[in-house]
Amino acid sequence: MAFQLPDLGYAYDALEPAIDAKTMEIHHGKHHNGYTNKLNAAIEGTDLDGKSIEDILTSLDMTNTGVRNNGGGFYNHRMFWEVIAPEGRGRLSGELADAINAAFGSYDGFKEAFAKAAGTRFGSGWAWLCVHEGGKVEVCSTANQDNPLMPGIGCGGTPIMGIDVWEHAYYLNYQNRRPDYVQAFLGIVNWNKVEENYANAK
Ligand code: MN
Repeated sequence: MAFQLPDLGYAYDALEPAIDAKTMEIHHGKHHNGYTNKLNAAIEGTDLDGKSIEDILTSLDMTNTGVRNNGGGFYNHRMFWEVIAPEGRGRLSGELADAINAAFGSYDGFKEAFAKAAGTRFGSGWAWLCVHEGGKVEVCSTANQDNPLMPGIGCGGTPIMGIDVWEHAYYLNYQNRRPDYVQAFLGIVNWNKVEENYANAK
């Protein structure tokens, strides 16, 4: 069964003004669709065909650039669409709030760390909130379409929330103002989904 481009669960214009409709349409319909199709082409007829994307990424041969770039692109964008929602959803609470307070001192401390990771990633990549076994959380960033599930990436744990900082994610509306885009993202987080990811990963 080939990987499918996931539905967003909301309209292209539903995240405005944080993320504009044209950016969403191109990002989901062209970029994510492209990663999905190229991932399917890269695994077709290989022993990766039929495995889950998580299994593919955690045991990835990092020299397999087709699967690394497009498998990462498929997984990363699927998570990205899920951890944001129109006007945000829920609020940080419960065990995840405790873990964030333990790691960053406060919610504001977390936002600062996350914005710094996203803002200082040079060129294209992602910033992540990850959870380690036992529940400890960490913020880190990766280049290109790499992600923390991949072997030896030096950004530990299971990702539970990620922001795309490739220019294609924000340039139409924000141009060079990546920090403004990062703040807008932090205003539309779907905390219900991030908490679900945390519960499943810890
Ligand atoms: Mn992207």
